[in-house]
Amino acid sequence: MKKILIYILVVIGICFIIPIFFTTKFKIKEIFCESEEKEEKIIQDIEKYSYSDFKTIKLLHKESGEVEEKPLDEYIAEVVSAEIPANYDVEAIKAQSVSARTYTIYKIIHGLKHENADICDDYACCQAWISKDDRLSKWKEGERIDNWNKIVEAVNSTIREVATYDGQIINAFFHSNSGGVTETASNVWGGEDFPYLKSVETSGEDAYTQYSSEVSLTEEELLNKLKAEYSDIEIDFANEESIKIIDYTESNRVKTVKFGNKEISGVEARRILGLKSTNFNITKNDGKIIFSVVGNGHGVGLSQTGADALAKQGFNYQEILKHFYTGIEITKLD
Ligand SMILES: [Zn+2]
Repeated sequence: MKKILIYILVVIGICFIIPIFFTTKFKIKEIFCESEEKEEKIIQDIEKYSYSDFKTIKLLHKESGEVEEKPLDEYIAEVVSAEIPANYDVEAIKAQSVSARTYTIYKIIHGLKHENADICDDYACCQAWISKDDRLSKWKEGERIDNWNKIVEAVNSTIREVATYDGQIINAFFHSNSGGVTETASNVWGGEDFPYLKSVETSGEDAYTQYSSEVSLTEEELLNKLKAEYSDIEIDFANEESIKIIDYTESNRVKTVKFGNKEISGVEARRILGLKSTNFNITKNDGKIIFSVVGNGHGVGLSQTGADALAKQGFNYQEILKHFYTGIEITKLD
């Protein structure tokens, strides 16, 4: 009898408890991503792969639900053209090319897939994408050919190159503007930290329009936005202490903020209130609550404006990548 009981407990352990431990530890949740993503976190030495393993990718068009197969570097050029302005320094565009390629291949290797696709075209979920035709039509006619050629040359000049750490392809997150200092991954998504995604400082990011923004809300607007998530929220707007930042992350982004009877994370506040980043302060003016925001994006990994700022200071794309991704190598796949 006792043996049977032990046997049952062992089976329950194997079937339910151990898998919970693993999925919790290794799941990386993308902000705003609705897809269920599974990461099979196995050691994946990059040496095992050749570039031809990634010849084509399956791209999910989020709105239509269609999955399109595309040659990898054609896809990367379109991603780069969607992610970074063509008038940025070519070294910044090359750095973005390696980042986007690395990010894509990481997703393929680690099985971070949408159901029938490797990656989707939603910037808030995976990475931005635009078709070549749509991209060209959005540029002024006289700039189209030069812009497109500049991007394709940046992609081709870094062909087969990916960022690796300790022989493994890295999870190459990138964002628009770090506000001068990047964020560690665990402060955004929880879970584990990556040794190559440390907080680093970059000068010159304040010269870009993406550096600062503001969201101004009436008391009613703020309350309604928060109520949509927390129906029992109550805020005494007459009390100065009722809206307040409680603490900050190491990179000086908001870790916890108090709204009346609720304390929520900076990441949650960013999402609910539509703030460009979690680096914000709160002031009151003329009956309005003003969120003054520094930086744009989650702040993890490569900053696009930071890459351009560094390129203009004379750094090449490899140096830029090594600045944002600590301790990496640039590896050319066979
Ligand atoms: Zn996606």
